[in-house]
Amino acid sequence: MALRYQSQQAFRSALVLEYLLCRQCGHEVTKADDLLRVTSVKSIGQRNATILGQKGVLIQRFENPQGRKFEVITTKNVDILNAGEVF
Ligand SMILES: [Zn+2]
Repeated sequence: MALRYQSQQAFRSALVLEYLLCRQCGHEVTKADDLLRVTSVKSIGQRNATILGQKGVLIQRFENPQGRKFEVITTKNVDILNAGEVF
């Protein structure tokens, strides 16, 4: 039985799961379908980006007590281990 898709994108999405990979070891951390928009009142900035083919992914900027700024995305599921080191 042949499946028909409305577009190339739909065909691609049906066949390919896109993963966010660890930069150091290549481990699959989370997948595109699990990205979520969860806002925080503590963020000092927000922007949207296309990540893993998902448009409008919310990226929030935070600042820790030492003044270091970092960005965060949110996801439903993640497969990580605690590295035991705080930066
Ligand atoms: Zn890793």
